Amino acid sequence: MSCCNKVKNIVTGYVKYATGRKSKFTPDRIRTCHKCNEQTWMSTVEYVSWLTKNGIKVLKNFTELEKLSKLPKQEQTKGRRNLYCRLCKCFLPGKARVEDMKCPLGKWQRENKGDKNDSSILDK
Ligand code: SF4
Repeated sequence: MSCCNKVKNIVTGYVKYATGRKSKFTPDRIRTCHKCNEQTWMSTVEYVSWLTKNGIKVLKNFTELEKLSKLPKQEQTKGRRNLYCRLCKCFLPGKARVEDMKCPLGKWQRENKGDKNDSSILDK
């Protein structure tokens, strides 16, 4: 995936999340992530702090964030309500809304089967 496509997909995911739109495959993807050992919970401040701490490495590897060290494994708390992937570093409620985005471990493949031509958008 090119850098431009990745940026476009990230923006699309955030916009769909912010406006409450999701696709048929979104709930299955999120369920898969909830069960995965590579998911983590972070506050926005913690995530921005991690990005800042790894700033140069993040910029150099923007299309391959999987190459950077994992995000810390943390449990959901009152202050940590955002679900991220420790491997790809993505905000999962946004990423899971974009058909082109992939799980770095291929765990979404089964959920996506049959949805290839389905671009229907459901209410949140
Ligand atoms: S995107 Fe894949 S590897 Fe990351 S948390 Fe979800 S299921 Fe796990």
